[in-house]
Formats: sequence, structure tokens, C-alpha cells
Amino acid sequence: MNDANMPWFHGKITREEAESLLTPREDGLFLVRESTNFPGDYALCVCFNGRVEHYRVIYKDNKLTIDDEEYFDTLGQLIEHYCLDADGLCTMLRDPVVKLVNNSINNSTSNAVASSLLLDPKAFEAAGWVIRMNDLKLGEVLGKGEFGDVHLGSLHGQKVAVKKLKDSNSKAAQDFLTEASLMSSLRHDNLVQLLGVVFDGPSICFVTEYMAKGSLVDYLRSRGRLHVTSKDQIAFAADTCAGMAYLESKHVIHRDLAARNVLISEEGVAKVCDFGLAKDQTLGLDGGKFPIKWTAPEALRYAKFSNKSDMWSFGILLWEIYSFGRVPYPRIPLAEVVKYVERGYRMEAPEGCPIEIYDIMKQAWKIDAEERPTFASISIKLDHLRANTS
Ligand code: AMP
Repeated sequence: MNDANMPWFHGKITREEAESLLTPREDGLFLVRESTNFPGDYALCVCFNGRVEHYRVIYKDNKLTIDDEEYFDTLGQLIEHYCLDADGLCTMLRDPVVKLVNNSINNSTSNAVASSLLLDPKAFEAAGWVIRMNDLKLGEVLGKGEFGDVHLGSLHGQKVAVKKLKDSNSKAAQDFLTEASLMSSLRHDNLVQLLGVVFDGPSICFVTEYMAKGSLVDYLRSRGRLHVTSKDQIAFAADTCAGMAYLESKHVIHRDLAARNVLISEEGVAKVCDFGLAKDQTLGLDGGKFPIKWTAPEALRYAKFSNKSDMWSFGILLWEIYSFGRVPYPRIPLAEVVKYVERGYRMEAPEGCPIEIYDIMKQAWKIDAEERPTFASISIKLDHLRANTS
């Protein structure tokens, strides 16, 4: 197999892994994997109407076929054919999910992480996401994140933020590249934009747009009631909700929405960032870093993450905005929060919080996820409130 000519070929990945790579679920987004059920065959996985269809590609008599009508010598020819014509598939193929990392089995790991991802700079290069270190100037440290320090940088005279990661073969690097590959496929005014990735010897850097006013939670805490106006609060809420409505429309789940993961631009626009957890379905509740106070009960108990569990977190984020950055459930010990919530306890409205906003929080905190509103519907409400707030 010549991977360079087949950027859409992901080798031996499972059906579930293919589905998590196929985001956002845009019609015609596709990849090819080796079939797990039928060794020697392949599966063509295509998004359509928000779902993923898996077509078995049968290999027989030295030819490949999906429907026993059209036969191809190579996978490349098969893909080319279905890029021009749906010819019986749910849709014609449009964009490939480019393979940015190499899968490999890491025998030395006995825990849950059985397979590791080795970085493949060439694939990033082919996808046009590589920035040369020479083009980038690094400046002061802006903050400290899970992956490493975040620096101010300059790229062709433009201010950028640079997340620097030291060990490029760690689990963190895998998460880091997952975040990068997901961010590269998403574009919205209320999402922090990825500009590219730098491979610099053993370290990799992740370059995003620079958000001059830092994280929303720090902004609220440092300026407080005296400086943050009602207009600012509703603007932050509406901006964040618009970014989340976009993710919802792309069937992408954030999983770690909180005021610390929203950044504020020079102009005061709020944008959602940190998609690091966005695709990791196997998060443990241990590890100390799990955002218990922001996570919906069904996600905590059964790892059932959805746009509706993000909506729960959005309710908590609204509470943070209107309490000027307080830590949620202020008087309840962390270990007790889930119990309280499952017994029906909900936080009160922060002082001075408009009734309409508290109403949204209460809807977001319905125990039945299906009863929670969509981001699309709350976005309309918040835009309306924003227009009517002076
Ligand atoms: P993170 O690793 O994304 O959690 O970032 C850690 C901290 O670095 C944040 O809380 C911000 O203070 C800062 N930071 C991260 N990304 C940016 C950015 N794009 N622009 C400005 N500051 C940032």
C-alpha cells in the first residue's frame, strides 16, 4: 500500500474508530479501512445525513467490488469512480478524512491504551497544515495548559498563540494531534481557529489564533462586577452558544465545555477552544482532571456524552458567567456533587442573574438529556436577549 497516494486509507482501525474520525458528519466525508469482520476485505465508510454508512469492499479474483457490478484493480480507482458518481452508494464521495497519524500497537502498554499513534508529519504536510519553525517567532508565556506552555508568537507579522509540546511520542502527543486534526476541519467565528502545526525536532507546536484577553474565567474573575457589564455577560453567553450550535450542527461533541475553555479576543468576542477531549470516548473518571462539576450525570455514570451533555455543561458555564467566575457548587465537596445532583439539587441563580438566563440553566440541567434544549434553539433566545440588553 502506498499511503502517500491514498491519504484516505486508515489501515486496521475499528468501525468505532472510523466513526469517531468521520467528524464533522458532512455528506460525502469518507475514509477506507481494513475490514475487521472480513480479513482481506476493506470497508468504505461514508457520512450521509448525519450517519456513517460502512460499505464492504470485497476482494475477489484480484479485483475489488462493492456491488458485484463495478470491478476495480485498485482502491484508488474505486475511490475515483465513487468521487465522480454515487452509483448506488448513499452519496458520491467528496472529502477524505486524511490520515494524519500512523496507528501502531504498543506492546509495552498493558493498560487501557493498547494502541498508540505515532506522529506522521508527512501527512500533516500533505494536508497543508505544517508551519516551518523559521517562520515562527516565540515570545512570552501566556498560560499553562494540560499539554505544556502556551506562548505568544508571531507568524508573518501576525500575533498567534503557540502551544508547545515536548515529547512527541507520548499519549499527550496523541491527544494533541487528535485535537489538531479535529480543529483543522472546523471553522466558525466563535471557535478558536487552528492555523497549523510545527514539527521542531522532538517537539511539536500547535499554532492557533491569538486571543488577547485570555480565558473567560480569568477575565470574569479579574474584572469582576465593577467592569463586566450585563451586555458583556450576554455577549459571552451568546457567542459561546453560537460556537456550540455550530459544533452541534457538525455532530461534534466537545466534552469539556467550561469558562476556562472559552477565550476572549482583543475585540471581546468569546470563542470555544480545547477540543482535546472531543473525541476521546474512553475518559476515566479518575486522573484528578475530570471536570466533574461541569459534566452531565449520564456522562459521569455511563460515559454517555452527547450534544445534550454539552448542554448541561453550557448551563454550568452560564452560571460561571453570571457569578463572575466563581467555582460551581461552592459549598459542596467535589466527591458529593454527583450525589446531590442525582437527588435533584440544582444551584440557585447567581445574584442579579436575569430570570430568562436562569430559566435556560434549569432547562440545561434536566436529568433526562432528551428534555434539554438544543444549542440551536438557545442560540436564538440568547441573540434575542442580547439585542434587548443595554
Ligand atoms: P490551554 O492549554 O488551551 O488550556 O491553555 C492554557 C492557557 O493558555 C489558557 O488558560 C490561556 O490563558 C492561554 N491560552 C491558550 N490558548 C490561547 C490563545 N489562543 N490565545 C491566548 N491565550 C491562550
